[in-house]
Amino acid sequence: MSEGNYVIAMDNLITGKFENIQQHTSNSKFEFIHHDVSNYIYVKGDIDFVVHLASPASPVDYLELPIQTLKVNSLGTHNTLGLAATKNAKYLLASTSEVYGDPEVHPQTEAYWGNVNPIGPRGVYDEAKRFAEAITMAYHKMHGLDTRIIRIFNCYGPRLRLDDGRVISNFIRQALEKEPLTVYGDGSQTRSFQYVSDLVDGIVRTMNSDCHQPINLGNPQEKTVSEIAKIIKELTKTRSEIVFKELPIDDPRRRLPDITRAREVLGWNPQTELLDGLKQTIAWFETQVPTVGAK
Ligand code: UDP
Repeated sequence: MSEGNYVIAMDNLITGKFENIQQHTSNSKFEFIHHDVSNYIYVKGDIDFVVHLASPASPVDYLELPIQTLKVNSLGTHNTLGLAATKNAKYLLASTSEVYGDPEVHPQTEAYWGNVNPIGPRGVYDEAKRFAEAITMAYHKMHGLDTRIIRIFNCYGPRLRLDDGRVISNFIRQALEKEPLTVYGDGSQTRSFQYVSDLVDGIVRTMNSDCHQPINLGNPQEKTVSEIAKIIKELTKTRSEIVFKELPIDDPRRRLPDITRAREVLGWNPQTELLDGLKQTIAWFETQVPTVGAK
């Protein structure tokens, strides 16, 4: 919108929140349609670009919504591709680092095919995203659709749902509410966290590129989950202790993006240091958690 575009957002809000877009509803360049893209999509008028970001993305959410997750990434991808084809629009699919599963190649380059358990609990997300990539490439090859695919690695920032169950939101909420920080397993598993505005920059750059191959978007700064717990404990100055809970089934051991392609093709490099991004995220959570200040 800041670049002069008219934006139509479509969401069934099963994991998203209307408050996150409320500030745009009075903008004449913005429109919201409450709709599940797993069902047939109708949009009036011309469209230049379709960006398919719809899907539960937190493991807690997609374990609670397995069928919806499979549908939005299969039927929803088919419908959004169909919309793009009808409107002669360009297309971007938000895929995921989960296509690499529990990776045996480290760091993960786009050339790696992944190590996914199709019938495990995470398969509903991982395999659906893999299908989404496959059908996107098929539309590109068969119909000449101008497609792009990004593989998003762990992302965090303001407006995360407090109860979305992901590690950064859990630890910050727990720290602010003086609850124990729950590290799953022994905390030695790793993730690489990118700040939301870096990801948005990567998405816009990908939209403006003509690369049809998948592109990893993530911050190549790898941290163990225990390190994240300690950092959040220090930044929030909480007296909460760290406790250890059972590791979820098929939880990937490690995850680190190789972002050579994004650097070369998009000139993209994440700009936000983890500590700065976490400080901004904590500041936002403090406005949401009522007990804060009573530490
Ligand atoms: N995790 C944790 N405590 C929590 C939530 C998550 O230790 O309260 C761990 C989880 O087991 C995983 C990592 O943090 O190893 C990242 O989990 P998240 O759900 O954020 O995303 P994932 O990368 O697994 O999709």
